[in-house]
Amino acid sequence: MSNAIELEHNADLLHRKYLEERDKRLRAEGRDQYIGVEDRYAKYAEDPYVAPGFTRDSVVEDTDVLVVGGGFSGLLTANALLKEGIGNFRIIEKAGDFGGTWYWNRYPDCRCDVESYIYLPLIEDFGDMPKEKYARSSAIFEHAKKIGRELKLYDRTYFQTGVTKVQWDDVAGRWIVETDRNDIIRARFVCLGSGPLHRPKLPGILGIEKFKGHSFHTSRWDYEYTGGDETGNMTGLRDKRVAVIGTGATGVQCIPPLAKSAQHLYVVQRTPAAVDARNNRPTDPHWWDSLRPGWWERRAANFDGFLAGIPQAEDLVADGWTTIWAKFAEAARTSQDTSDDQLTVAQLVDYEKMGDIRARIDSIVEDPEIAEALKPWYNWFCKRPLFHDGYYETFNRKNVTLINTDGRGLDEVTENAIVFDGKSYEVDCLVFASGFEIGASASRIGGFDLLGRKGLTLDQKWQGKRQTLHGMFVRDFPNLGIIAGVKHATTTWNVTYMLRKQAEHFAAVVKYCVTNDISVFDVAERAELSWGKTIAEKSTLNRKFQAECTPGYYNNEGKDPEQSIFGSVYGGGPFEYFKVIEDWMKQGIDQDLEVTKK
Ligand code: NAP
Repeated sequence: MSNAIELEHNADLLHRKYLEERDKRLRAEGRDQYIGVEDRYAKYAEDPYVAPGFTRDSVVEDTDVLVVGGGFSGLLTANALLKEGIGNFRIIEKAGDFGGTWYWNRYPDCRCDVESYIYLPLIEDFGDMPKEKYARSSAIFEHAKKIGRELKLYDRTYFQTGVTKVQWDDVAGRWIVETDRNDIIRARFVCLGSGPLHRPKLPGILGIEKFKGHSFHTSRWDYEYTGGDETGNMTGLRDKRVAVIGTGATGVQCIPPLAKSAQHLYVVQRTPAAVDARNNRPTDPHWWDSLRPGWWERRAANFDGFLAGIPQAEDLVADGWTTIWAKFAEAARTSQDTSDDQLTVAQLVDYEKMGDIRARIDSIVEDPEIAEALKPWYNWFCKRPLFHDGYYETFNRKNVTLINTDGRGLDEVTENAIVFDGKSYEVDCLVFASGFEIGASASRIGGFDLLGRKGLTLDQKWQGKRQTLHGMFVRDFPNLGIIAGVKHATTTWNVTYMLRKQAEHFAAVVKYCVTNDISVFDVAERAELSWGKTIAEKSTLNRKFQAECTPGYYNNEGKDPEQSIFGSVYGGGPFEYFKVIEDWMKQGIDQDLEVTKK
């Protein structure tokens, strides 16, 4: 047996190989290795999609609910508030339109590879059939704008407006919200829907600031420079040598169209992506017409039920996400029958899955050396699973060079080149597909300070330890709801499903207060303590798994797993979490809240 074949069939060897590859990538600086988009790097965060020079008069006003953010969190909160009959609210959004992630990310071939039929949260309400199973960014952006139009949210929203401060006024019983347009808005309730994935980060490469060519981050795509649009055809790159840094979910999607347009493309790889087939296809209109009312909720619950390990009678979505979970579930059943260790059996399924990905690479990439360099050596869920039908094919092109840094990253950037291992590659353009700040403090992600009772900021309150009720409400921060909290709350792989649930929950709490003449609610101390205890007791954080993963934002760059995105998430899974908050609502929320009546 050759070494390669033996490796794929020997769990001990694979385990050792995974650890060796992880070790190459561990950085003592952890998250601090990246550069934030401020000061001299602030241009990487500028909005390229709006005309410069927008001005408007500042306002001083009162509202019942102030919603921070016009992405799906904010839009779904607005939808839920309207359904509860609460119409006096205001949305503040720093971008020029609704959409959040899908406003910013317009890079070529940007798509969501969670199925469009469940990712688009209100398509059943609008009866809009997506064209494809995996929608383009523009189609998702269009859906967000349609929510804005249908719900008449444009008149209630201040765009191109950044919140600068949110402070609780205990005497008035109001939040005082300040913005960078000098607005002052007094709000009874505030909902934070500012999203976790919107602050771009740059790779901390020596000399990056010296580069004199053109450069931009993928979430601020410069079509003026590249030409073309989301379908590619970037004529501005015909005579350009381009380097793309990053091979994560974004890199994998924009690399193929970049390769087709650029004179030459250098792909800088630190950790190889693991990319399964996506099998995108047009929507069958007959199937669409056959859907019965309530289908969205059933389908979304079926998908995330699968991924939460809950047996489902059928697999409605049937794609790369669900099929691997079906295998995990089967392995769990087998382990019960055979009394084998469940984790070991699951690990074997994972080895097989990643072996299939490596075989997929061998079958597509013609040059065996390049194929070898593209192979990922880590577990499937160490990084976000990726699906694409043209990524590996790109490396068969003559105008593409893979710079495999084998976990190290580039050594240097100069005025006109990137440098690795003593070799310099001259480039005209650098594209940073280097991701977003995840896990930073609440004020950094939001871009403003949130001051509650006693003048305490949320960062100060959470210093050392997060304290919440259901991940959504925080003691000393009255009349406040956090949507997309994940920590102390839950997550679903189809994130809009969870956003819908949390938005409905927040709106129900506001409605309860309005109906019952409650002017101020705050979380009782014992309720917060009790939820913290529940989070700790129910924790399913697999520290060993996290620690052995290749570093990335999923495992906090290999540092303290508790700080990873899976740390302090409600361990009972999303469906149990949804039931907990629904039951809590039914039982009457005063039990856990200290309320002041009008
Ligand atoms: P990401 O997953 O964080 O990937 C960042 C990439 O930059 C990684 O390949 C990373 O390498 C690389 N990198 C960072 N510093 C580097 C350095 N010094 N030298 C070389 N390479 C460096 O960011 P993303 O790709 O933008 O994706 C972020 C998230 O957005 C995804 O996980 C997903 O949740 C979402 N998203 C989803 C879709 C979709 O639905 N298909 C598409 C795009 C984005 P290492 O791996 O070695 O750290």
